[in-house]
Order: sequence, then C-alpha cells, then structure tokens
Amino acid sequence: MGKPTGFMEIPRRDRTEAPVADRVQHFREFAIPLSEGEVREQGARCMDCGIPFCHPACPVNNIIPDWNDLVYRDDWRRALEVLQSTNNFPEFTGRICPAPCEAACTLNLTDEPVTIKTIECAIIDKGWQEGWIRPQIPTHKTGKRVAVVGSGPAGLACAQQLARVGHQVEVFEKNDRIGGLLRYGIPDFKMAKHLIDRRMAQMQAEGVAFHPNSHIGVSTPARLLLETFDAMVLTGGSEDPRDLPIPGRELKGVHFAMDFLTQQNRRGVGDSLPNQAPISAKDKHVIVIGGGDTGSDCIGTSFRQGALAVTQLEIMPQPPEKENKLLTWPNWPYKLRTSSSQAEGASRDWAVATKTFRGENGQVTALQLVRLKWHQNQQGHWKMEEVPNSEFELPADLVLLAMGFVHPVHAGLLEELGVALDGRGNVEADTERYQTSIPKVFAAGDMRRGQSLVVWAIREGRQAAQAVDEFLMGYSDLPR
Ligand SMILES: Cc1cc2nc3c(=O)[nH]c(=O)nc-3n(C[C@H](O)[C@H](O)[C@H](O)COP(=O)(O)OP(=O)(O)OC[C@H]3O[C@@H](n4cnc5c(N)ncnc54)[C@H](O)[C@@H]3O)c2cc1C
Ligand code: SF4
Repeated sequence: MGKPTGFMEIPRRDRTEAPVADRVQHFREFAIPLSEGEVREQGARCMDCGIPFCHPACPVNNIIPDWNDLVYRDDWRRALEVLQSTNNFPEFTGRICPAPCEAACTLNLTDEPVTIKTIECAIIDKGWQEGWIRPQIPTHKTGKRVAVVGSGPAGLACAQQLARVGHQVEVFEKNDRIGGLLRYGIPDFKMAKHLIDRRMAQMQAEGVAFHPNSHIGVSTPARLLLETFDAMVLTGGSEDPRDLPIPGRELKGVHFAMDFLTQQNRRGVGDSLPNQAPISAKDKHVIVIGGGDTGSDCIGTSFRQGALAVTQLEIMPQPPEKENKLLTWPNWPYKLRTSSSQAEGASRDWAVATKTFRGENGQVTALQLVRLKWHQNQQGHWKMEEVPNSEFELPADLVLLAMGFVHPVHAGLLEELGVALDGRGNVEADTERYQTSIPKVFAAGDMRRGQSLVVWAIREGRQAAQAVDEFLMGYSDLPR
C-alpha cells in the first residue's frame, strides 16, 4: 500500500449531497463528488489488511485494494484497467450499489470503512471524461449468433462480454428503450439515463445489435430465436409485482410502484403518455407500502412531484440503529438505514399491516391499519400477530405498492419455451453453467435469482457469458 499509516491519519470522507430544499426541485443527480485530491487521500486509507474481505463481499469481485492503491499513487489509468477487468458498468454500481464491500472492509471493524463506492465512481467517471474508455472491438468473428432477451444490467453485461470475444450478439427488449430497471425503474436523480446511452453506443461499436419494441414470446415467438441463433440467454428480470389483495384494492389511486416510476422516467425524457391515466403525487398525501429500494424511489419521486406528505409503511419491525460489528462483520448487517429519499422528509412507520383501503366515490381516501407484534417461534422463524385494539387510520390520496416482486412473468416467453422453474417461480439454472432445462437456452440476473441488485445482475451476466462462450466454442477465455 502506498501509505501504510493512511488509515490512522486520514478520516473517512464521502460524497456529499445537495441540500434537500434544492434537490427536490428537479430530477437530476444531486451527489457532489469529492475532488481528485480528496479521492486520492481516501484511497490512502486502504490499510493493506492482508485478507481483503471487501473483494469477496463485492458480487463482481472488484479488486478493490489494488485500485485504491493506484488511485493514491495517481495512476488513474491503471486503476481504470483493474476496475474494468471485473465490472462492465462501474458508473452504475458507483452510483446505486448498496456497497456490501464497505460493510466487509477490515477498517470497518474498528473505524469507518474506506469510501470504496465513491472511489469506484471517481475512477470510471474520470475514465470517461479523459476519453480512455473506448470500444473493445474483437479482432476476429466466431460466426456464432447469440440472442439475449432483456436489456437490464444482466443482459447488457452478458451481451458485452460475448461481443468482445467475437460472437454476433443481438439484444431483444420489449420496451421502447434499452436498460431494464436502470431505464424505467430507477429514477433519474439516482442515476442519469445518459450513462446507459453512452454504454449502448460503446456496445454498438463492439458489434452488439439492439432490438427495442421486441416482446419475445408475445410479439415475436421465442421459437424463431431458437431456430436462428446458436444460443439464447434469458435476462428478462423479475417483473411480477407482489400485490395486496385486501378490500378496496380496486379503488382509484392505488397503484403498483413500477407504474408510477415508469411514468416519471418517461416524462423525464419528454414522452407524452396519451394512453395512460397520469399517476401524480402533486398535492397528495402519499402512502408507500414497502420499505426497500423501490419504496425509497417512490418517496423521492413523490417529493419532486410536489406531494403534501409522504409516509412509508413497513410490515417488519424497526431494525436496530447500530449493528454489533463483532457479530456481523464482514457480512451485510441488519440495521436501520436511511436512504437519501427517506431523508427528504418521509415519515416512516414499522410493524404495521394494511387491513383495508377506504374510499369515497371510487377514489382511495384512507388506509385502515393495525400494529403488529413480531416474535420468533421455537424453530427460529419470525411470526407476527396483530396487537389488540391497535387499529388506526392514515389519510391517503395516492397509495404506491412497493412490496417487491414475486418472480418473472411466466406468460409469454417462459410458457412458450416451457422452461423449468424453481420452487420460487424463477427460471431454474445453476450458477456454474447458467443452463436452463431447454438445450442452448441460458438464464441470468433477476429472472434466474429473483429480485436482487444491479451488481448481482452484472455478475450473473458476465458469468453466463463465459458459460455460453464455453458452450459455443468448447473453451472460453472470458473471466468469470
Ligand atoms: C424501483 C427499483 C429500484 C431499484 N434500485 C436499486 C438500486 O438502487 N440499487 C441496486 O443495486 N438495485 C436496485 N434495484 C434492483 C435492480 O434494478 C435489479 O436487480 C436489476 O435491474 C436486475 O437486472 P436484470 O438485468 O436481471 O433485469 P431488469 O433490469 O429487470 O431487466 C429486464 C429487462 O427484460 C425485459 N424483458 C422481460 N421480458 C421480456 C421479453 N419476453 N422480451 C423482451 N424483453 C423482455 C424487461 O422489459 C426489462 O427491460 C431496484 C429495483 C427497482 C424495481
Ligand atoms: S460494485 Fe458494489 S460491492 Fe462492488 S466495489 Fe462497487 S460498491 Fe462495492
């Protein structure tokens, strides 16, 4: 390490954020980067701990200590090379990854972890700014054709890896734009969409063909792809949302989170939505049901649209403020976290269940709720029971259901292929070969593992590409 005593001398510093009052006026990113000098100083905090637990904790196994050291030594170009050897899209993860690497950082045991995610983002942003990131055009073509169905981070990572070893790769996407949840789920203020467009341009130069508006198994039979391609990779995500079938569910003003978020992301690029009733939080009491990333994105979007108040409800009990690091490290600890959107003024309530959506003239006006008590049974499983006489009501003009996704959509693509599903309804494929029950059909990302994270999707896309390459060629030089 460049500075063996860096961790003792330099306190952790991280990106800051624009003040809430300013940032809720627009939908742009609001993180304020550190200066180059500050990032280098933060790199110097990496302590040469011997066994870098950050490395296996990162799903793409970023070689974190090496790029920390290179950044400290001002060798950004080599830091970029090391970073790109494991991660196709560090500008995505550098913005929206929850950073399990930082929880696993050895320095986190006794102090605060290295600002790994911020350093990752600084390396890649500088790489683009300096023009160092170029298409990696293959020197030879294999003559093999691969169809990738779904253009989220799993499909994009898979397609890029396969194109770089000379296969002809075509990406089919049912939506009108490429990017999956990066495009239409995650709001602009968390990740600007021009970052996807820039990668698409790079991938097109590397030989990838994109086919938006191609709903495989619906507008185009999957059979056609099976007949014309040497391999097919299913990266269609986990898109079936968990519903809340209680009295009043049919009322106007109760929506799935993704319907709300997609509309806003479309408005952001100037789309008119003539065939859809607009869903807006303006001047409304908004209730978000569900405490994860999707719920947070609904909160931030609601504030930017001009909501009167936003309340987020979670069925689970409130987590502890702090973890016991000696018990949890290097694992991802269960503890209270506050997202930047929640910090914009949302009220949060835990251990609450919704019993009824109440309405007037067909429009939701309130939620009837009950408090829950959680306890562990003898097998260690958590069980909940309603607290007697704890019913209460909250006013609501807009309710957003953000309770996760049960599994991929089965109708269309998966049913036509007749692909085997696992016990949770995801496409069955192991993580060695990513092979489904249908010959030459592979699966990766949320469609295979269930709803997860962008960094896991990138990992699976890369590993599936290696498995497909080996299937097509009998060997593969692609890294896993
Ligand atoms: C609102 C929201 C916010 C999130 N925020 C974060 C975050 O901050 N950080 C993080 O790490 N993760 C976050 N996640 C999770 C993350 O976005 C996903 O885990 C990741 O995008 C999964 O990637 P994927 O490529 O497997 O699938 P997706 O991104 O879901 O992409 C699948 C694509 O396949 C297409 N498709 C499906 N079926 C077909 C078909 N038959 N034919 C053609 N195309 C098809 C879909 O239209 C979609 O574009 C969030 C998820 C949501 C919903
Ligand atoms: S991808 Fe996520 S886990 Fe890996 S180094 Fe970046 S922030 Fe950490």
